[in-house]
Amino acid sequence: MAGSKGWEGVVLKLMKGKDFTFTVTGAEDVTADYRRVSFTDGGLLAAAGEAPHPTMWVRVWFEGAGRPHQRAYTLVDPDPVAGTFSFEFALHDGVASAWARGAKPGDTVDATVQGTGFTAPQPAPQRLLVIGDPASLPAINSLLDAYPQTPATIWFETQHASDADLPLRVDAARHEVRCVTRDGAALADRVKAELPDLAGDPASAYVWLACDTATTRTLTAYLRKELGLPKHRVNALGYWRPAAA
Ligand SMILES: Cc1cc2nc3c(=O)[nH]c(=O)nc-3n(C[C@H](O)[C@H](O)[C@H](O)COP(=O)(O)OP(=O)(O)OC[C@H]3O[C@@H](n4cnc5c(N)ncnc54)[C@H](O)[C@@H]3O)c2cc1C
Repeated sequence: MAGSKGWEGVVLKLMKGKDFTFTVTGAEDVTADYRRVSFTDGGLLAAAGEAPHPTMWVRVWFEGAGRPHQRAYTLVDPDPVAGTFSFEFALHDGVASAWARGAKPGDTVDATVQGTGFTAPQPAPQRLLVIGDPASLPAINSLLDAYPQTPATIWFETQHASDADLPLRVDAARHEVRCVTRDGAALADRVKAELPDLAGDPASAYVWLACDTATTRTLTAYLRKELGLPKHRVNALGYWRPAAA
């Protein structure tokens, strides 16, 4: 299978990536710009051998312009017993989004799994400080599910009016969502203005962030260098690359 996928697949094979085929069982538009697609897992969750961890993701292959493209997607509500999960797609122009828009029961996609990880912060955080957007919404929800008693403040960048209706799994008693409309550095500026008051002791603060690559880089540098958070208290990964201005 790797051979048909060009060099990216070959590299993953060398890194002992495992391949699975997922079959669509259903699809629904959550909003006009966000679509959930449900799958049977082709043996993925049994092969993983342990309970799925929060923010778990896989590399999925989508066809476009006659060749495969690899994109990362987060497992939503993985059920190892049933062998099922969903993906939730923040829709824009792209091969993965195009596939998701047309997905219907019986369609298949191939995926390569390298074994993602999540290191639970020790000591456990008193408050989760979370920064993300619709692409990282599935990961944010899995993180909130994994810390059912922990208060959280979530800075959430929106792009479309419909993003206000996205299914963040928040409980008003413990969680506070601060929406920021995407506009240049607006999200980074807002976080810089507000996060220090909530962080408390930098040694025990915990920030999870996954935005576009530029914002993620800016905020990671800010948290580490200016606020002085230790490396293991900042979990940061750029989730998508913005188009060149
Ligand atoms: C670990 C990880 C987990 C991820 N999980 C999810 C997930 O569960 N759900 C999800 O929707 N995304 C997720 N992403 C992000 C997703 O992989 C990217 O958004 C990917 O680029 C989408 O591929 P595409 O083929 O649709 O668009 P591409 O071909 O990559 O890009 C086409 C155009 O769309 C723009 N674009 C790409 N992504 C976005 C976006 N999110 N918002 C606005 N514009 C965008 C690009 O700048 C480009 O101009 C995850 C990323 C990582 C690293």
